[in-house]
Amino acid sequence: MTSPAHHLSLPIPRWAYAVALLALMVTWLVLQENGIALGHAAESLHEFFHDGRHALGVPCH
Ligand SMILES: [Zn+2]
Repeated sequence: MTSPAHHLSLPIPRWAYAVALLALMVTWLVLQENGIALGHAAESLHEFFHDGRHALGVPCH
C-alpha cells in the first residue's frame, strides 16, 4: 500500500525558480561583510544590511 503523497505532483511555475535564485543572491549580499567580493562598496552595504544580518543570526560585532 502506498501513501497518496507519492502520487502528488505540484506544478512549479518557471518564475518560481527565478524568484528563488534572486532570494539566494539577496541573501548572499546580506551575508557579505568584507571587501573580498564587493570591494569598496562592502562597507556601505554592510551598514545597509546590518539589521538583516542580525535578524539572520550572522555574527557581526
Ligand atoms: Zn551588528
